[in-house]
Amino acid sequence: MALPMMKRKTYIIFRNFCRNYGVSVDRMVRVRFAPSPTGMMHLGGLRTALFNYLFAKSNNGKFLLRIEDTDMTRKVDGATEKIEDVLNWAGLVPDESPRQGGEFGPYLQSRRIQLYQDSVEKLLNSGHCYHCFCTEKRLALLKKEAIRRQETPKYDNKCRDLTQQQVQDKLDKKVPYVTRFKYEAITEPWTDLVYGEIMDSSTEEAREGDFVVIKSDGFPTYHFANVVDDHHMQISHVLRGMEWSVSTPKHLQMYSAFGWQPPQYAHLPLILNRDGTKLSKRQGDIHVESFKNQGIEPDALLNYLTTVNRGFSGPTDGKTLQELVQMFSLDLVNRHSSRLQPEKLGPLNRKHLQRHFNGNRRQEILNRTRKAVKDHFGDRLVSVHVLEDHYIEPLFQWAIEHRISSIQDLTDPLYEFIWITPTLKHLHHITRKTKNSVSVIEQTIHKLKGMTNFVDAEVKSILKCQCKELGMKTIQYMGIVRASLSEQTDGPPVSEMLEILGKQESLRRLEHALAALRTAS
Ligand code: GLU
Repeated sequence: MALPMMKRKTYIIFRNFCRNYGVSVDRMVRVRFAPSPTGMMHLGGLRTALFNYLFAKSNNGKFLLRIEDTDMTRKVDGATEKIEDVLNWAGLVPDESPRQGGEFGPYLQSRRIQLYQDSVEKLLNSGHCYHCFCTEKRLALLKKEAIRRQETPKYDNKCRDLTQQQVQDKLDKKVPYVTRFKYEAITEPWTDLVYGEIMDSSTEEAREGDFVVIKSDGFPTYHFANVVDDHHMQISHVLRGMEWSVSTPKHLQMYSAFGWQPPQYAHLPLILNRDGTKLSKRQGDIHVESFKNQGIEPDALLNYLTTVNRGFSGPTDGKTLQELVQMFSLDLVNRHSSRLQPEKLGPLNRKHLQRHFNGNRRQEILNRTRKAVKDHFGDRLVSVHVLEDHYIEPLFQWAIEHRISSIQDLTDPLYEFIWITPTLKHLHHITRKTKNSVSVIEQTIHKLKGMTNFVDAEVKSILKCQCKELGMKTIQYMGIVRASLSEQTDGPPVSEMLEILGKQESLRRLEHALAALRTAS
């Protein structure tokens, strides 16, 4: 362990010297997001990807996606593709990846098996690794014994002591084996860019024995492939969740055994549920895909992730990814795990949607709204004209200022009146008690037709006057107008509904209601 620590110290002195003299010797910043394709990506994974991306881009570096798919038992079909889809959706487009390719590929570990096999040969030859022929049965027994003695189960390193001849005999007899790494205690601390100096705190008794680097199926374990790839892909910094920090001593030992310079580590504090428990599906879905399906904008979701753990030189509310790049610094990431605050997501999403709508993405928002409405209401729509830009545009403007947080919200039952023609069942029901309902609607149509400025406040005062003239109670009068416009008994105030629907559509609905009442009477 002393060797890489020395090397690192020397490197830092050298780096500072060169910085002082304006010579650039720092390794180019290359970071990777290295998920295992074991299911859908969740918020914790997206946060790790985001911080890697921000760190790379704020240092003029590269952001890689590497899929760690060597555990065949946990691999989920299609997960690899979905991970890259999610990153692209979020705008965290990797510079190198399985899809993009790159000069350090392949970026799927399952396609790099030869490299791991060649690498382990080096450690076998240098005596850092050995073949272990212990059977599953023996290992299970060891574990059982340890549990009985209330000790941490660990491998007893039995095969470390096999002679070369014994090993050869077993290989000749084709006895199945794994390859293990000789694991020694790390006695010096290492520097984590977030947590500072860290000591391997596990005691000798608690530390597991020599760990497996190549399994009996010839595939590497996570630890081995991770180190070999980080080296060969020239990864300069490893930013990963805090839960991986227990693996760091193993990784550093392997770097030392290979004689390679390790990357700098920065472990990121945990994100917790609102109640302080481990992030899990228990408190609402945490899969990125489900946020996407709820109509959360990618930049809003990224922004939401910046509300935990910090890392930014100012408030991040409503900031774009580019702005976050400017504001990000690893030095500002705090060391405490922090809790998600789901109530922040809606307002953030509204902020980002407003920005897109008022910026240069208005047409895209209109198209997405059209699609969401069409998919949701299908042939229940009033008519195709509600899908036209001139109808959707003012409506969206109103909704995003006052009411909704996402495009999907517009399909909420509260806003059905916008899209669906009322069947007038409710109107017939309430007008049974009002003798003059035909003339109520006739006169309302007449008044509204004469209006030039069809906005909430003006409509409201016209309706008020009309109600007074008719000598009706407000609740009764407004009830009739509302029931002519929509099936809903509650929702936004009637004057607001009229403004949202617009003069043309409002009059169309009132005429329709009038005709229906005339036929019925
Ligand atoms: N494959 C690990 C994961 O699924 C990568 C951990 C690391 O970044 O080293 O998160």
